[in-house]
Amino acid sequence: MNLLDLVSGGKVAALIGSEWRLSVKNFDVVNPANGETVAQVADMGAEDAREAIVAAERAGKAWRKVSAKERARLLKRWFDLVVVETEALARIMTLEQGKPLAEARGEVAYGASFIEFFGEESKRMAGEVLPAPDTSKRLLVTREPVGVVAAITPWNFPLAMITRKCAPALAAGCSVVIKPAEATPLTALALARLALQAGIPEGLISVVTCSSPAGVGDVLTTDSRVRKVSFTGSTEVGKYLLSQCAGTVKKTAMELGGNAPFIVFNDADLDAAVDGAIASKFRNAGQTCVCTNRFLVQADVYDAFLEKLVDRVRGLTVGSGLDNDVTVGPLINAAAVEKVQSHVNDGLFKGARLLVGGQAHELGGNFFAPTVMADVTADMLVASEETFGPLAAVFRFETEAEALELANDTPSGLAAYFYTRDYGRVFRTLEALEYGMVGVNEGLISTELAPFGGIKESGLGREGSHHGLDEFTELKYACLGGL
Ligand code: NAD
Repeated sequence: MNLLDLVSGGKVAALIGSEWRLSVKNFDVVNPANGETVAQVADMGAEDAREAIVAAERAGKAWRKVSAKERARLLKRWFDLVVVETEALARIMTLEQGKPLAEARGEVAYGASFIEFFGEESKRMAGEVLPAPDTSKRLLVTREPVGVVAAITPWNFPLAMITRKCAPALAAGCSVVIKPAEATPLTALALARLALQAGIPEGLISVVTCSSPAGVGDVLTTDSRVRKVSFTGSTEVGKYLLSQCAGTVKKTAMELGGNAPFIVFNDADLDAAVDGAIASKFRNAGQTCVCTNRFLVQADVYDAFLEKLVDRVRGLTVGSGLDNDVTVGPLINAAAVEKVQSHVNDGLFKGARLLVGGQAHELGGNFFAPTVMADVTADMLVASEETFGPLAAVFRFETEAEALELANDTPSGLAAYFYTRDYGRVFRTLEALEYGMVGVNEGLISTELAPFGGIKESGLGREGSHHGLDEFTELKYACLGGL
């Protein structure tokens, strides 16, 4: 099997149950670096989604009876194949999503780690025996798979956002219908091919590709056979899907948008803070849910931090993700470029100061110049909206209390970061931040070993760690009497 067939410009089939299905209707997958069509993918609809659910229900009934050890063995084989195919997967991702190849390889490793971890974890899906109220009874608690899971995923991490859902779902004994983002269906299809090659039974994974999400999405969120919807994407769409899921009371996991603060206190190691800032802000061209949206820097170190940050930002290399040495690829589309520009324009209009960048990159197309804007204030758009692009917006603060108030002044609560060398301040800040994840003197926090997820309007549920497996199980309590 050659995965790179998927990006050879031809027509690509969706996976509905056990069938690779072509369609007379197709949609273009476009390389955001040059606007060229990478492939044409089958445009599936509501009926295809229903068939995928039927297949998932059927395959799931058999899969839940497969031993944990065997499930683990198959997941390990899938993991091994993903690792072996790192180069092909990374290339597919760069072609359809734009990120530099080195980052795409990193995403393959990160995405694969969930398959390995949850395969191992399936063997530890234990229940409980609880103390009974009297000696004639025994109380047993078991964990059972929730059933058919719908996974609706975004384009910014086309591989990892799928494995973060599919691996724990399969490990728990569930089946999955994936609806990948319309911009990045090829990575999803490549992953599914490898799963089948690994021996994961047909029907357990479907990939329902479509050009417009509403038809397939409505089926996945309203069909009573789907017992869980696991969504990663924008808060706006997440709220809509939650309301859709209410009708059949589905379990939901919602990994939604963020507005991460990155606080630099006056006692921080500024070089370490700038390293963290670059990783957290400019990775994936700033199109990361946990990426910093607001740098909050204490007045005494404000100028020194800005000087170091601007220096590093000038050293970033913008270009096609396929070119060596490129560190910042294109944004996903023209609308994304417009959004970054609107945040810059709004800030400058309201009194912010441009230090570098500020406009479309000279390469044109979807490239935006890495930008640093200082003297940002709470009334500017970037303070309340996720930019999702390479704009570092820097606020100045005077006191610790002011920083914490600014940091929490958002309905989002996904990730936050802060840099300090003061032991007391570490704990005060950590406890005060209203966020699901916090990087302390660290700009990169994602790992399969820890629970990933947000509070407030950033979502519900956790992915990764043993908590990520629990999300795909239901507790069943049995009271055994008459003993
Ligand atoms: P999006 O919400 O536009 O789309 C996400 C997915 O939802 C896509 O597959 C899309 O087709 C689908 N979708 C949209 N409307 C739908 C509908 N009516 N019914 C069913 N499906 C529908 O988000 P995006 O632009 O692809 O991704 C960027 C957003 O995702 C950002 O806000 C980012 O912060 C967030 N994100 C969050 C996390 C996290 O773990 N919290 C991770 C990555 C991205």
